[in-house]
Amino acid sequence: MIVDVVFDLPVPHPFSYRVPPGLAVTPGQRVRAPLGSRARVGLVVAARDGDGETLKPLAGAAEAGPILSRSPLELTRWIAGESLSSWGSTVAALVPPAPRSATEAMPAPPEWAPGGGERPSLLTGGDREERLLARIAEEAEDRGILLVAPEIDVAAAWAGRLSATLKVPVARLDSGMADGERWSAWMALARGAVRIGIGTRSALLAPAPAPATLVLLDENDPAHKPPGPPRIHSRDVLLERARREGSRLYLTAATPSAESWWRADEGRLQRLSDGPSPWPSVSVVDVRGALRAHPLSPLLRGAMKETLAANGRVLLLVTRIGSAMACNECGFLVRCPECGIALAFSRARRELACRLCRRADPAPDTCPHCRGRQLAPFGWGTERVEQAVRAEFRRYRIVRDDAESGRGRARAAGDSGAQVVVGTRAALKAFVPRAPSLIGFITPDPILRLPDFRAGERAFSLLWAAAEKVAGRGRVVIQTQHPTHYAVRAAAEQDLAGFYKDELGFRSELGYSPFRRLCLLTIRSRTEGAGRRLAETLHRELSGLGGLTVYPPAPLGRSPRAARWQIVLKGGDDLPARLSPLLGPSRERRGDGRGIIEVEMDPVDLA
Ligand SMILES: [Zn+2]
Ligand SMILES: [Zn+2]
Repeated sequence: MIVDVVFDLPVPHPFSYRVPPGLAVTPGQRVRAPLGSRARVGLVVAARDGDGETLKPLAGAAEAGPILSRSPLELTRWIAGESLSSWGSTVAALVPPAPRSATEAMPAPPEWAPGGGERPSLLTGGDREERLLARIAEEAEDRGILLVAPEIDVAAAWAGRLSATLKVPVARLDSGMADGERWSAWMALARGAVRIGIGTRSALLAPAPAPATLVLLDENDPAHKPPGPPRIHSRDVLLERARREGSRLYLTAATPSAESWWRADEGRLQRLSDGPSPWPSVSVVDVRGALRAHPLSPLLRGAMKETLAANGRVLLLVTRIGSAMACNECGFLVRCPECGIALAFSRARRELACRLCRRADPAPDTCPHCRGRQLAPFGWGTERVEQAVRAEFRRYRIVRDDAESGRGRARAAGDSGAQVVVGTRAALKAFVPRAPSLIGFITPDPILRLPDFRAGERAFSLLWAAAEKVAGRGRVVIQTQHPTHYAVRAAAEQDLAGFYKDELGFRSELGYSPFRRLCLLTIRSRTEGAGRRLAETLHRELSGLGGLTVYPPAPLGRSPRAARWQIVLKGGDDLPARLSPLLGPSRERRGDGRGIIEVEMDPVDLA
């Protein structure tokens, strides 16, 4: 017998081996096989008859049986094609590492049985988690359940919640667990010994006893598509898995991605939402021309005094200073006329450049709108806000909670003695005991001005999350130079549908996801010259494909060991298939000997 094996390497094709007498392996099973000078673990993707005399023999089986049945194995091939990645690297990212000893008995992984054809559901609303929990409790009676969380912390919290509510064991498959435990959890699900599994991306293909219910928690969280393989959004994998497997799928989000909202508009997702949940009072303060002098407007200062006098807690949210240039007097934001996204300011070159089409203009001295002279990137850092608050609220306990100060010790937001917390987005998530009754945004403007077409969605999501946090008992104050922006207005008015109407209008007009697909190519080369030549060759070849928008290559700057270039492409649904002959994984590896080409389909973070 001859088998084809894929490895965790950037190569496009499987390698063929002869199966020595006495060894029995099947597709979906991991094996050890000689490659180059050593034996590596790879996955058998196909088997056929033949003696394969000229082929090298397999060294042995890495496990007693297959880790993937036929359908999930096919799904990994689809993922590799959609993300223009190697099949082997995709598989390696989606199954737990093989254990050292291959002797433990392995249950046959359950085969997927297509059918059902139920539409996936989108769960929104303030009580979505309670409603999800109730559904899981009901469905766990006769269905296997698999939840995929954006982060390990969320997976751990849900695992605790599920086992406490349902009084049944829950298998954890996230990378917070040791490799051996993940493998054992996977096997327990395959055997049907445990019927509920939860993990992060590495659990996307985990077996779930059929019929299965799949859940993607916080489907709009960018953590569902971090860098590295599998280079695909967890939502896309689960939608495809549910379709092939005939399983039920729930996507949950406070503010869904524009992609999911659009799918629901198209009738491909079913909306499950209750009526409007309680909403706090939201004040929008126009701080045009005012915020540069002091981070607290009179209204926010007054709200803080009232809250503290009533023994409430205050959370002041600070966002990192952005790279976009806006007018501090009228709020005008300099955008790319072609792409509609904020232009990024380079101080060194005094230049404004578009991250997509690479148009670059000298930075103007005066505001094109009001002729004012206060045009600059702008924001407040957490430390300066903390100082300003301390100067004014001396009697209170004030703590700062940002990425740096929070690492390695108890988060300040969790410290219930703190009366004012000055923090970043992470502080909002961490705020559990004695939740704040006032959340003040020093300003969300740096997010609204991200040089990314998802800037509006990001800002809206954060504003909405803050309002949900204090809903029913507190208030939110938003200081902004963009008081009429649809993301600000929709969050203040609790108008979910209104936001997506404007957001999808913008995306459709300028050709962004879900209407067009983007692809980022990053070219790394040891020398500037080789990088540029490779980028230019690629650009010429890609332009020759026709029907795609191919922006000119642009340098991304030098790191100590490499020069980097980027090419941005736009195309339709078939973009990966169109690009595959030119940009398959082999190109990723060789870059024609002049560099390395990294392919990122559907990037979630451009800024
Ligand atoms: Zn542009
Ligand atoms: Zn202006």
